[in-house]
Amino acid sequence: MRHLIFCGNGCFFLCLEVRKSNIFEAVKESVTTRQAAEYYGVQVGRNGMACCPFHDDKHPSMKIDHRFHCFGCQADGDVIDFTARLFSLSSKEAALKLAEDFSVHYDAKGHDPPRRRPVKRKISEELRYRQAEQKCFRVLCNYLHLLERWEKEYAPQTPDEAWNPLFVEALQKKPYTEYLLDILLSGSMEERASVVAEYGKEVRKIEQRISEFTASHPAGRHERSRSLSAGAER
Ligand SMILES: [Zn+2]
Repeated sequence: MRHLIFCGNGCFFLCLEVRKSNIFEAVKESVTTRQAAEYYGVQVGRNGMACCPFHDDKHPSMKIDHRFHCFGCQADGDVIDFTARLFSLSSKEAALKLAEDFSVHYDAKGHDPPRRRPVKRKISEELRYRQAEQKCFRVLCNYLHLLERWEKEYAPQTPDEAWNPLFVEALQKKPYTEYLLDILLSGSMEERASVVAEYGKEVRKIEQRISEFTASHPAGRHERSRSLSAGAER
């Protein structure tokens, strides 16, 4: 049997993390956001889209699967975040509610499971990974929003008009960005990890791209849409 030696305060902290997070982990492993949403009365379409319960949503703009993300109000998170927000509960209360409603078994007394040391190491790796995945997700979401905006605001108005590069970028990059986001939302752990690993560099480039664009367009409005609406009023 292999023993892993951990020492110092970091180890102690992580031990506590394991105990505290037991119910959180158990709930997240057992219940998807989609299952919880449907159980609590949110109608989720076959494509995983639902009207967001967190803002006044007329058309389904929330994608719900293992996690959830609203493209309207940016609400985002896992099944515990969803339930906490839906019922105005703390994370702990939401986890307890989910555990009860879905009969999830967890280590209520916080006893250390027998294989606690290997788990400990896994948790710290998981934390690091989760941060990377969340960042990846956030950047891609922001990018998709920009692309959706560009697709509308910079669309050519006449057949002979030259295509704006931002419109072209929207056409080229949107399907691919949606595809990656879909994997991050509904893929298996392995699939998500491969996106994070393979597209890490690309995501950093996109992040840079977004900040450059935002810096050069501080008002966030495209001039042409103004002149167009002025034209329409005439
Ligand atoms: Zn929303």
